[in-house]
Amino acid sequence: MAFWVSNHVCKWRNYNRLGMETRSMSSAHFQKHLISTKKSFRKNIGAYVYCLYGMEKDPALPPKQHLIDARVIYSLAPALGHNQESHPESSARVPAIVDALEKMELTSKFRGSEIFELRSFKPASVDDIASVHAEAYVSGLEKAMDRALQQGIIFIDGSGPTYATAMTFHESLVAAGAGLALVDSVVMSWSIKLVAASNISTDPPVGFALIRPPGHHAIPKGPMGFCVFGNVAIAARHAQRVHGLKRVFIIDFDVHHGNGTNDVFYDDPDIFFLSTHQDGSYPGTGKIDEIGRGAGEGATLNLPLPGGSGDTSMRNVFDEVIVPCAQRFKPDIILVSAGYDGHVLDPLASLQYTTGTYYMLASNIKQLAKDLCAGRCVFFLEGGYNLDSLSNSVVDSFRAFLGEPSLASKFDDPAILYEEPLNKVKQAIQRAKHLHYL
Ligand SMILES: [Zn+2]
Repeated sequence: MAFWVSNHVCKWRNYNRLGMETRSMSSAHFQKHLISTKKSFRKNIGAYVYCLYGMEKDPALPPKQHLIDARVIYSLAPALGHNQESHPESSARVPAIVDALEKMELTSKFRGSEIFELRSFKPASVDDIASVHAEAYVSGLEKAMDRALQQGIIFIDGSGPTYATAMTFHESLVAAGAGLALVDSVVMSWSIKLVAASNISTDPPVGFALIRPPGHHAIPKGPMGFCVFGNVAIAARHAQRVHGLKRVFIIDFDVHHGNGTNDVFYDDPDIFFLSTHQDGSYPGTGKIDEIGRGAGEGATLNLPLPGGSGDTSMRNVFDEVIVPCAQRFKPDIILVSAGYDGHVLDPLASLQYTTGTYYMLASNIKQLAKDLCAGRCVFFLEGGYNLDSLSNSVVDSFRAFLGEPSLASKFDDPAILYEEPLNKVKQAIQRAKHLHYL
């Protein structure tokens, strides 16, 4: 999506200082100017506005009116060809979510312009992927597609294991591209609304990339744990490179540690990675004292939670750790690794989140983004392997984005829950607060 900078003359509005004064410059000049002035500019407004000529002609962006009206923008990349019989990370996952959204009348067919499905996005480029992964890995995976075509399915050594079919390379590019297009859309929506703030609702849309294969375990040198390309990490780099959004806050509430994202940004002070996960679960990384390295020390927060942690635990974590951490970091955009395998019904782990927990997270993260970064926020699907709890949780997340009441009481059965280890959770929270001076 480098078209924003490379293919157009950009206008850059310094909204606060210059009001509506607009300067036009070539993309190269623009980049140079951006680097030299963004420090002082950030002091004034904390972000930049890009306005683009020819935007409405670009088929990869939603029509301007949709960007104004939408409260949820989502993209689908179901990867129907990337599938292994009986594997939990299966091609049935995204279609199950889509069926549930339709059943609950949460698509544009029922909601008009409030909910917009972004369809005309492009696959990510190899350059996009290489912003996070080694080029040798990307080219090696592409070459492995011939072998996968002959054998039907292959397993990549030392990756968790992660399977690949002949479609995996292309469908993984599509998944990453679906996320990048949502970053473009939410940033553009904000720009349009800011310019026309006096007469348009300022309620910004949240993006949700309903994509697979997931990404947060994929390490720079290879795939891992069902994950092929680090979708959220690639989007974070894209937000920086293409939109000049310097500070990215990533929240990962999947039940497993997002070790891939963690590794990519471990020494980067501008990308804060905050992961909550079940203590001792795959892949065993993400200990509480893993806080970043060098210039990035303090910009990684890992909070392992004891098995059995549930709704109350996560509400406490959100209020006591996530909120103060994000407030102090002052992000330009929030990206979310949204895994639904912490649900009490999920077969791969043993936390006790409920549909209501995911509603709370969606609602609170949206509010956090509104408070801190003009609402710029994109969710990325990671885990979630019970198709019912996965679908219901995404449905309720959409309702949270729309500001509508939760349907969790219809989905959740309190009788299956047991007592949470709240004392242990409290100790973990205190330890994280101590380590991070919160
Ligand atoms: Zn997971």
